[in-house]
Amino acid sequence: MCIFCRIIEGSAPSHKVYEDDRTLAFLDINPISDGHTLIVPKVHEPLLENLNTEQWDALFKTLHKIVGPIQRAMDAPATSISINNGREAGQLVPHVHIHVIPRDPAGKMMFSDAVSRVKPRSPEYFKGIAKRIMKEIEATV
Ligand code: 5GP
Ligand code: ZN
Repeated sequence: MCIFCRIIEGSAPSHKVYEDDRTLAFLDINPISDGHTLIVPKVHEPLLENLNTEQWDALFKTLHKIVGPIQRAMDAPATSISINNGREAGQLVPHVHIHVIPRDPAGKMMFSDAVSRVKPRSPEYFKGIAKRIMKEIEATV
């Protein structure tokens, strides 16, 4: 079973920020920026073109719902939204996921460079960020 399926079924830990019948959003364990969130469908499927339209719609509905709250929670004026669709595109986890990456006012990532990705982050760091995002999602619904 892939790591995202294990997160979905609850046998692997994650810091969830949003969940509904078809999708789950949780913090990336190795964030490019504070608030870097992954949105996944609850079905195991590596490639987005193999999702049915209902699953795809659900994924985009979740993106639409949480992108504003993520930006507000992180005081980010913008986000980069990306999908690595296939191994050759840099997809490391073979389960469709949308990256939501908050950016800073200068148009940079919230951390200065990719080197920050190797910095270990504490459970408190993730808990604090997940709490801020969930609060903003609740305030929006
Ligand atoms: P990809 O390169 O497949 O588009 O991105 C996979 C992402 O999943 C990476 O940003 C990586 O940090 C994240 N990731 C990999 N394993 C885990 C995990 O066990 N938990 C969480 N929360 N994120 C993970
Ligand atoms: Zn999976």
